[in-house]
Amino acid sequence: MPYKSRWTIDIPNAHLASILLDSPTAPLSKTKPCFLEAARPETHYFTPHDFRLWSQRFAAGLRKSGLQPGDRVLLFSGNDLFYPVVFMGIIMAGGIFTGANPTYVARELAFQLQDSGATYLICASNSLDTGLEAAKQAGLDLDRIFVFDNAIYDGPGLSQKGCRHWGELIAPIEEGTDFAWEDLSTPEKANTTLVLNYSSGTTGRPKGVEITHKNYVANMLQYNYMASLNPDHAEKLLRARWLCFLPLYHAMAQNIFIAAALRRGTPVYIMPKFDFVKVLEYTQTFRITDFIFVPPVMVMLAKHPAVKKFDLSSVESVGSGAAPLGREVCVEVEKLWPEGKINVKQGWGMTEATCSMLGWDPREKSTSASVGEPNANCEAKIVAEDGVTEILERNQRGELWVRGHNVMKGYWRNPEATKETKTEDGWLRTGDIAYVDDQGKFHVVDRLKIFQWKRGTDMTPQELIKVKGNQVAPAELEALLLEHPAIADVAVVGVVINDEERPRAYVVLAPGQSLTAEQVIQFMDGKVAAVKRITGGVVFIEAIPKNPSGKILRKVLREQAQAELKQG
Ligand code: AMP
Repeated sequence: MPYKSRWTIDIPNAHLASILLDSPTAPLSKTKPCFLEAARPETHYFTPHDFRLWSQRFAAGLRKSGLQPGDRVLLFSGNDLFYPVVFMGIIMAGGIFTGANPTYVARELAFQLQDSGATYLICASNSLDTGLEAAKQAGLDLDRIFVFDNAIYDGPGLSQKGCRHWGELIAPIEEGTDFAWEDLSTPEKANTTLVLNYSSGTTGRPKGVEITHKNYVANMLQYNYMASLNPDHAEKLLRARWLCFLPLYHAMAQNIFIAAALRRGTPVYIMPKFDFVKVLEYTQTFRITDFIFVPPVMVMLAKHPAVKKFDLSSVESVGSGAAPLGREVCVEVEKLWPEGKINVKQGWGMTEATCSMLGWDPREKSTSASVGEPNANCEAKIVAEDGVTEILERNQRGELWVRGHNVMKGYWRNPEATKETKTEDGWLRTGDIAYVDDQGKFHVVDRLKIFQWKRGTDMTPQELIKVKGNQVAPAELEALLLEHPAIADVAVVGVVINDEERPRAYVVLAPGQSLTAEQVIQFMDGKVAAVKRITGGVVFIEAIPKNPSGKILRKVLREQAQAELKQG
């Protein structure tokens, strides 16, 4: 029997905007901010009332410009005060939001533009060259590109390089106030897609993960329900303040800092990008109450000398997700506060599960690296290598499968990948290796994306690398490296150096060719975002270890890498 959640909550069929902002005209706070620009919070912020109106104005403008329900709109930008407005405006208009990693190079952005079939590109003004090049590659016309910056807060912005400012898509206030989003209160309607969050999933290139209103509403309510188990929850809501430096294009930040925060009424201070010392400074200044971090930031919290210089006494909870984190780091982090005040808790999630799936009851104490138990209404099970047999014994490893209202509809226009990942009865094969301990808590121990097993016939694991919490698919880097004329074969695996996972390339040279490690690294310049660069080293070998059917034996290479790194 699968492990069923201890909790059941009501998950309505509704438009996400209805759940977060009530109705188009219901009274909302005009005083307590919901989103603030961390660098100038006194002047640049939104209350829920203003946020809804800006989103409605953008929705009305999009519709006026010709947007039809189901059309995709791609936002290519780092975090910004207006990021949540773009997100909400698109979905209020009935469009589908898709956010791209702001560090993408043109090739990567062009792929997402083409794959999603986006007909609007809203592009950060400081990334316009990349946006223009990507649009050219994807065949998107100049008049579909809109320059994005928050100049709009102070008045209409300027066109640049032949592209109109996105402010031209903001309808006048009167049209915004009247703008009503669609009623999605039947199960069929709530199954409408609202975002495509890109993820490589278990294997291959990034794919658009189709998340519906039902998925989003479910996951936000599940996430908030878990927090509400805190006996101090009601008072805590009054003083809660969050800091968002995690990228809003990614499922984790998008769900937590836009949806869960709005529903809770928790103000979010938005940072344009990660800067650890600023995180500490803002925590002290704004009296941030909860740290919602990823492992590399947890490691900095444990080790960075600047930590001691700031007053972190406002912090009441510290959580980590998106990648594995050892208990040792958690213990070091807990020492920053008086004994017993902070117990670091880890959660597990996946873009394909909207955001979160396993988490901790705040009343319990975590003493291991466990990621807790299933969200309300969710189920989880551990499945053996044959892809069929459920492992019932505690402490036995297998593939983690999860099911719930938050599991994606499927991969965008990719029924093949959907079929491999989601069973007909709704189970998501996560590709993570996990076990359940004697207390019924889940532990994620490895990230071999084992869907490649093809249910027992091909045992080659595909490995997803996570660099600073970002997905890096080895297959994508391998395909690019193979374009080099001197490279005959290549395999990329993840290695851990200085507590951080990085991609390491094993390269086989073509006969008579020579190449240095630096040349291999440089070859990737401009082809991939910084997180995907080969920062884990380049090793030249005679042949890539493969199984008889030609699949790379990544496990062998990972072990080899570990031995090499140990030797220094
Ligand atoms: P993403 O879709 O980018 O959120 O990546 C999902 C993947 O991140 C999961 O399949 C895991 O491999 C990994 N992951 C997320 N949370 C954790 C965690 N707490 N511990 C270990 N791995 C995690």
